[in-house]
Amino acid sequence: MTYTEENPSRRKPHSWWAGYQTERKHADLGTYALVVDAREQGLDDAGGRWAIICTRHGTIFNTTSLKLARMFMRSGPTEWCDYCNGFEYPWPELEEKIEDAGR
Ligand SMILES: [Zn+2]
Repeated sequence: MTYTEENPSRRKPHSWWAGYQTERKHADLGTYALVVDAREQGLDDAGGRWAIICTRHGTIFNTTSLKLARMFMRSGPTEWCDYCNGFEYPWPELEEKIEDAGR
């Protein structure tokens, strides 16, 4: 991943990623749904300019509109991340499961 500046915040821990738009914590799934500008982040934008990323599994889902991206971010990664949806994650050592201290 490419970073714009070193300024992570607790509430929005990915706000320093290049192309950052918005994010939402899905504590029940142990992940964040993160919306970035695919081009600025250096991702493939063939499927759409706006990429939604499951930060726990690294799953990337492209959409053509930012509005759609925000919708999928809110509805949660079970809709577009196979591993959040129950498939076994083949690289558990790479998982970055968030801890929810707020509950
Ligand atoms: Zn996931």
